[in-house]
Amino acid sequence: GFSIQNIPQLPPDPLFGLKARYTADTRTNKVDLGIGAYRDQDGKPWVLPSVKLAEKAIHEDPAYNHEYLPIAGLQQFTSAAAKVILGSDSKALKDDKVVSVQTLSGTGALHVAALFIKRFYKGSGSVYISSPTWANHIQVFETQGLKIESYPYWNYATKELDLKGFLGAINSAPEGSVFLLHACAHNPTGLDPTRSQWTEILGAIKKKNHLALFDSAYQGFASGSLENDAFAVRSAIDSFDGSLPILICQSFAKNVGMYGERAGVFHYVSATKDAALQSAVLSQLQKITRCELSNPPAYGAKIVSKILNTPELYAQWERDLVTMSSRIKEMRQTLRSELESLGTPGTWDHITTQQGMFSFTGLSKPQVDSLEKDHGVYLVGSGRASMAGFNLGNVKAVAKAIDQVVR
Ligand code: PMP
Repeated sequence: GFSIQNIPQLPPDPLFGLKARYTADTRTNKVDLGIGAYRDQDGKPWVLPSVKLAEKAIHEDPAYNHEYLPIAGLQQFTSAAAKVILGSDSKALKDDKVVSVQTLSGTGALHVAALFIKRFYKGSGSVYISSPTWANHIQVFETQGLKIESYPYWNYATKELDLKGFLGAINSAPEGSVFLLHACAHNPTGLDPTRSQWTEILGAIKKKNHLALFDSAYQGFASGSLENDAFAVRSAIDSFDGSLPILICQSFAKNVGMYGERAGVFHYVSATKDAALQSAVLSQLQKITRCELSNPPAYGAKIVSKILNTPELYAQWERDLVTMSSRIKEMRQTLRSELESLGTPGTWDHITTQQGMFSFTGLSKPQVDSLEKDHGVYLVGSGRASMAGFNLGNVKAVAKAIDQVVR
């Protein structure tokens, strides 16, 4: 009959399932290295000083209200966000080639990108993602009926970039495929191409007329410098100028610590200035938002906008990025030197060459299972550890636990 039935039960999301087991664990020395959210030296969530100042200013503004935003979002936010990723002296911005709409954080931007590609991109029909990648990438694109292919990225034997495999995939993919690229702080490996490797990768993409789709979820969080972490995106724009458009999904979840406020932007950077095309793109992007959200959430956008458009707050934000990234770098160094002084079998230099939120430790699934069961140390099955979960109070104990499960 006409009823709702035969609904397959899905397994819990691996990451949020891990969080639930961690929460239920009664051991007092448990350590959460699962979800990618910054923690301070006491293991607590951190509200950035720049955010506190911005919130205060917003609340004190007599014009403060909870009105709807326009369909494309808060314009002061999206245009300032474009300057953050493209650079304030960006030629693409000066030439007026950028269309930006506010999205539900980075995930929403990826969703908009997927829909946009599905509807309007006449290419090979395949989206190439790195192996491995952030697990959500696969389903965000597959849900729109796009075909997912993968390109080699991480060499499990050497714990280095598989550049040869990566370039091979770019060269053998059908012309006009989509390549999803992590702008910086690759998730889950923490391993980014060097500048000269990026030049080779982008050169190969351009030669095959592929569409570059950048996922920028950690700008400034990786190196502490917004400029450094935008290198790949900006060099793609410079080198594709005049020939290929570029899509960018930008999240402020990590670098402004606005995880739950869902502040993000999708940017379409046109290859050549084409006012009619850009206006059509904007109208289609607005339609996507209008039928799904009506209009995007305002609060997070107002906070980020206040920071980006107030020079003193921007300067404070840049200091906050250094605070977060340098604490993580320090934890990388400490973990590595603890493991080395314990003489833990294996090499551990990859922990300090990787950057950003995550380290791909190289620990196997049984080792990860034993860390959780025997030591109360929680990380995902792939061996990815959120470096923000480390602090001076737990790093020694975690190193000892790793040492035990590796032996
Ligand atoms: N891309 C990557 C690579 C990520 O790691 C994340 C967050 N884990 C996102 C996008 C999206 O995050 P959000 O939707 O919270 O902005």
